[in-house]
Amino acid sequence: MWLNRLLITAILGPELARWKARARAPVVWWRDDDARRPTPALDRLLALSSRFEAPITLAAVPDGDIQALAQACRAAGGVELAIHGFRHENRAPPGRPSGEVNDLDRLADVVLELGTALDVFRRAGTPASLFVPPWNNIHPTLRAALALHGLELSGYGDLRNVDEPARLDAHLDVLRWKPGPRFRGAARFLSRTRRLLTERRRKGLWDEPLGLLTHHLDHDEATWRFLEAFLPVVKPVSRRSIVGDPVARTGRDGPRTLAPRKAG
Ligand SMILES: [Zn+2]
Repeated sequence: MWLNRLLITAILGPELARWKARARAPVVWWRDDDARRPTPALDRLLALSSRFEAPITLAAVPDGDIQALAQACRAAGGVELAIHGFRHENRAPPGRPSGEVNDLDRLADVVLELGTALDVFRRAGTPASLFVPPWNNIHPTLRAALALHGLELSGYGDLRNVDEPARLDAHLDVLRWKPGPRFRGAARFLSRTRRLLTERRRKGLWDEPLGLLTHHLDHDEATWRFLEAFLPVVKPVSRRSIVGDPVARTGRDGPRTLAPRKAG
């Protein structure tokens, strides 16, 4: 713990001081992926979120027990549930990047799949307004289907695309994935954090959010311990406080339900 604190001070300290000197603080939000049902790891995640009053957007796969998940999240408070794919199934042709939607899928079918996923969350009493594509694979057909349902999108990247104001990505993955998931390492993770903060400061993008990405089911002990040191420093805020409420923003009563268009 002391080592994590020391590294945070050494690597992020000078950059955060430059923000403070301009009376600014980075806008950080937190997304966690791959939830399907309540587990001991989920309990640990929710306890961490409560302890540091850090709201969390939990991307959940609709084929799980969303009812039980929603109940656990309601009890914890400060959790927004998002849709994380349909079955988190890799349907990419061999040799192509992993993804759930591919070139052979018809728009009408993807629109229907999305409608089914939305129903799962609605029935669990937690209507979703955000979609998080597994493997960050934003296939054009998926993008079109999301637009038809009025769903917002969250991927993984560096800076926000100005053409997509409601899109809020994650930027800081606390894990490395090859050959298997494990903590990225404090120095590596903090160096990326510093680089993205410096970029925002130099461009004057003080309010450009920075998204922390976690996967509670894959955390090793080092990851949990690092988060305990990192969360109180960056003080995440809720996604809603950044992108606003969809009803307030569009004046609509939640997501639209449109008849699927012909694929094309
Ligand atoms: Zn995932």
